[in-house]
Amino acid sequence: MPEHFPDTFRIPLPDDFHVHLRQDEPLRVYVHDLASSFGRAIVMPNTTPPIRNAADLRRYRDEIIDAAAGYPWFTPLMTFKIAESHSAGQVRQLAAAGAYAGKLYPQGATTNSEDGVPDIRAAWPVFEAMQDSDLVLCIHGEDPTSFVLDREDAFLPVLEEMVRDFPRLRIVLEHITTSRAVELIRSLPDTVAATITVHHLLLTLDDVVGGFLNPHVFCKPIMKRPEDRAALAEAALSASPKFFFGSDSAPHPVGAKENACGCAGVYTAPVAMPLLIDFFERHGSIAGLREFCCERGRRFYRLPESDYEVSYSRKPWTVPERYGVVVPFRAGSTVVWTGSRPEPVQGG
Ligand SMILES: [Zn+2]
Repeated sequence: MPEHFPDTFRIPLPDDFHVHLRQDEPLRVYVHDLASSFGRAIVMPNTTPPIRNAADLRRYRDEIIDAAAGYPWFTPLMTFKIAESHSAGQVRQLAAAGAYAGKLYPQGATTNSEDGVPDIRAAWPVFEAMQDSDLVLCIHGEDPTSFVLDREDAFLPVLEEMVRDFPRLRIVLEHITTSRAVELIRSLPDTVAATITVHHLLLTLDDVVGGFLNPHVFCKPIMKRPEDRAALAEAALSASPKFFFGSDSAPHPVGAKENACGCAGVYTAPVAMPLLIDFFERHGSIAGLREFCCERGRRFYRLPESDYEVSYSRKPWTVPERYGVVVPFRAGSTVVWTGSRPEPVQGG
């Protein structure tokens, strides 16, 4: 039986294990929506230019910390974009600079991945070096040469090879979308986990192209069938430590979405937590919400418990039509839950 939540409850400040923060002025605008609701975030490196080396990583982290100055609880967890040319020495330097993860983009799989890895097996030595430095490998798991609905499942055999060849490497298959991916992740060792977004928990392909085309929920990997969404929901609600929250929130200006060549990505940062709370109230429990948003990801990434907590209250609000020049997920609709300003844990 789903648990009817009290009108106000407290949880540790959630973390977001997959987010796009941009640079320069857009970073300064959109970091607020993320840092208002989350304590830590795995920040994707597919900026232009990408985050490739230790100097890039330090510079980008400083830029984010500066932009998030009003949010003392917020810590960006940095990543780098894997190239098959990365040497073991460069990987060690990235680890020493504080990288938490390297991100693998198969070439052409998604936004800014033209400079991704064309032949994944050519990056095997990079994965070896990451395993030696105890870095997490985050993967955009799609084979871009396959039919669009089959791309994620087509990538799964490559994941199995990686797990076989790098038994100590911690791997996160990002933003999973299919029941086969859920099944495989469950069957693999505890070194392998997956993130799930709020939009993949709530939508299917019907919401993107089933009626009028909705460019604001077009993303990669694209939403799939109802049975896939059901498998994701079951995974998020299960007691498995392998499935945790990563929003993949990505602010694209309205003109880049409402466009003949519209960009992939959904801007969920301002509404992710209210929608997840609603989802867990309908299907699960506060304990499940806390596991999915506050506990499993940080355990996988070996992070301490949050020093901050947040209280959520049943205070409905209307999602603005725009945040800056970006149309957010669920623009114009009413969401039920409102979060407080995070506060340090009492006696912590
Ligand atoms: Zn992403």
